[in-house]
Amino acid sequence: MPSLSEETKGRVSTLMPGSTIGIVGGGQLGRMMALSARYMGFKVGVLDPTENCPTAQVADFQVTAAYDDTAAIRELAERCDVLTYEFENVDADAIDEVRHLAAAPQGTDLLRVTQDRVNEKRFINDHGTDTAPWRAVNSIAELESALGEIGYPAVLKTRSGGYDGHGQTVLRSEADLDEVRGFGDFAPSILEGFVDFAFEASILVAGNGKDFVTFPIVRNEHRNNILHMTVAPAEVSEDVAQAAHELALRLADGFALAGTLAIELFVTEDGRVIVNELAPRPHNSGHYTIEACSIDQFDAHVRGIAGWPMPQPKLLSPAVMVNVLGQHVEPTRALIGEHPEWNVHDYGKAEGRHDRKMGHITVLTDDTAATVAAIEGTGCWNDLR
Ligand code: AMP
Repeated sequence: MPSLSEETKGRVSTLMPGSTIGIVGGGQLGRMMALSARYMGFKVGVLDPTENCPTAQVADFQVTAAYDDTAAIRELAERCDVLTYEFENVDADAIDEVRHLAAAPQGTDLLRVTQDRVNEKRFINDHGTDTAPWRAVNSIAELESALGEIGYPAVLKTRSGGYDGHGQTVLRSEADLDEVRGFGDFAPSILEGFVDFAFEASILVAGNGKDFVTFPIVRNEHRNNILHMTVAPAEVSEDVAQAAHELALRLADGFALAGTLAIELFVTEDGRVIVNELAPRPHNSGHYTIEACSIDQFDAHVRGIAGWPMPQPKLLSPAVMVNVLGQHVEPTRALIGEHPEWNVHDYGKAEGRHDRKMGHITVLTDDTAATVAAIEGTGCWNDLR
């Protein structure tokens, strides 16, 4: 991997309205990025294999092709001034190959670090920040030896390609290890100590390559490994909030961050803040910022990659964000008329499969606990109880 300081030097130049931003990936994150970009006067192109994908519906043009189609990435670069992405599993080499055609203000080191859990953990630790204890493991023998050091319970994750709990197994005993022995092929993996967290949280940080700003720390609830709800702000002590802001700024500085970075955290009962993973882009747990903050995570992303100054985001109101998965579309639509407080977002996806993220609802509130209870009380999300 090239040294970050060399790779990032002079990377972000100022982009004026009228310029074109190319987004690799056309889902809801790309869509909300595009909406921000458009109100600032940028044009938007998107690369996605699905015709009329959520981002294409609000963009100026779509290149319809697979994300790793290098000819398509080149076409996007030829038609755009800068490239960005809405997910981390983008081919970093393919982006590097077209950087003479369009700028990549986020650089590609950020991608290379965050696509590989071992690189990611090392980067986080090198920047003075705690993670679960971890070992890279490439074989059953290495796994056995790592378990000897880390102990049970532990979490085995593939180094790359995993998301929302896919590609990971919790090992609680020898019996679970036996099961892994039976898997056959052993993909390059990481073994992490199991963190006995009090709750999960996240914090967003955004930058323009030089200056960095943080959003409030928020509490996240997952169901079946998918984000269900975000409560902003998280009910944490000053010390915990401070620790989260400081680690976010250290990581942003380490990356010379341009755009938005999401940091997923574990907070322990005794107030330790441990980084789980990074997402080099806006994040589902940051959707509340659209209504609840003075600048939202998508605006911040666009400003950052455009090299604009970064205003400090202010929380204007506490908020609760709940995801609308495929199975929640009908029940929530049936109740829209009864809930003026619901800020309803629909991503325009053609097909509403079970567990597929179709939209979200944000409620601004002075009483987050009462709002959480009211949302659950509608019964729309009863399948997740
Ligand atoms: P990830 O794909 O790394 O975000 O993991 C998905 C979920 O698994 C997290 O949101 C946690 O709930 C859980 N998890 C992941 N790693 C650990 C760990 N080291 N200790 C405890 N729980 C974990």
